[in-house]
Amino acid sequence: MINVEKLRQDFPILAQNVNEESLVYLDNAATTQMPDPILQTMKTYYHKDHANVHRGVHTLAQRATEKYETAREKVRQFIHANEIAEVLFTKGTTSSLNWLARSFGDRFINEGDEIVLSYMEHHSNIVPWQQLAKRKKAVLKYISLTEDGFLDMEDARRQITEKTAIVAIAHASNVLGVINPIAELTELVHKHQGVIVVDGAQAVPHMPVNVKELDVDFYAFSGHKMLGPTGIGVLYGKRYWLEQMEPVEFGGEMIDFVYLQESTWAELPWKFEAGTPNIAGGIGLGSAIGYLNEISLEEIYHHEKELIHYVLPRLEAIEGLTVYGPSEPVDHTGVIAFNLDGLHPHDLATALDMQGVAVRAGHHCAQPLLNYLDTMATARASFYLYNTKDDADRLIESIKEAKEFFR
Ligand code: PLP
Repeated sequence: MINVEKLRQDFPILAQNVNEESLVYLDNAATTQMPDPILQTMKTYYHKDHANVHRGVHTLAQRATEKYETAREKVRQFIHANEIAEVLFTKGTTSSLNWLARSFGDRFINEGDEIVLSYMEHHSNIVPWQQLAKRKKAVLKYISLTEDGFLDMEDARRQITEKTAIVAIAHASNVLGVINPIAELTELVHKHQGVIVVDGAQAVPHMPVNVKELDVDFYAFSGHKMLGPTGIGVLYGKRYWLEQMEPVEFGGEMIDFVYLQESTWAELPWKFEAGTPNIAGGIGLGSAIGYLNEISLEEIYHHEKELIHYVLPRLEAIEGLTVYGPSEPVDHTGVIAFNLDGLHPHDLATALDMQGVAVRAGHHCAQPLLNYLDTMATARASFYLYNTKDDADRLIESIKEAKEFFR
């Protein structure tokens, strides 16, 4: 069991009052908070080792390189990639998916090829594929959902055919909290000679992920949703594919030789990483992985599940409140989207903020999903390892108070 009280001491940001109430931070699907040990690691880097990586022979440059590349190795171990060549540092999930749509797409997608997404995708896993489809005259298709908000695997079996070039799918939804059966999908996609791309932004922070076991071709995630800093993320790709792909950005760091008319590229993974990288960000992400490992992703998954078991029935018991997604907390991360009858979610979120409870309201960068659910916007509470049952109670109470207030 996670000792949440002790762990919260690492997060001074949580121990503050907002609007004269103690803060309950439930916007973790957007960005998580950073604990002191990670901030300390980044501070030490800036205090003692800050220099540019890879190029320098002086001691600081070597230390910075060592720390940055050690972080890459930590990422490799964390997701169980075969080798660091398969671990590319990016700015985050969005840039990972854009790189992929550009690099893999331009090389391998042809007119009439099908790109299969689902109705629950984040805009980051829709728009880059739309742009690719436009460039290549490819066809976009969407897998539908069951009534409970799960991916409809029967429909997946209909949509994924020998015409499918790419299936790009979220491992976990940022709105419904459902976890998709990636291993099963991978088998299906590979049976039809397609490639599977997984948006793991809402999975990697919350459960153990093993890219080798899942056998996915590509996997993307962000540092700032897993206790790390903003501006750093990862694109995992199988060497087989990365070797055949061209970089998306060009310049320093990613070259081997530059001649007047031609250049050759560095080895993987550096061939994709043009320019000075986010060194402190990479080191911060490595430190975040160390922190999460110490607690264990299994424990974090159980902790969130316990909170969801606790909060879901209590939310559903509030008259006039609609919860989107599964009514049973099976295969669920700590994300819950809801609406209160007669109250715009922005007003609800503002009323909760007045009581110190931070939730998100809006379309959550998933407009096709919200259209599918026949709503324009929802409120969303998302729990993480430092949240407690008291936080869940405060959420419930503040919704009830908002309901009374606006009656
Ligand atoms: N995919 C999912 C499922 C997300 O929840 C998010 C962020 O909310 C993203 C992609 C985009 O992540 P980032 O903004 O870190 O690039």
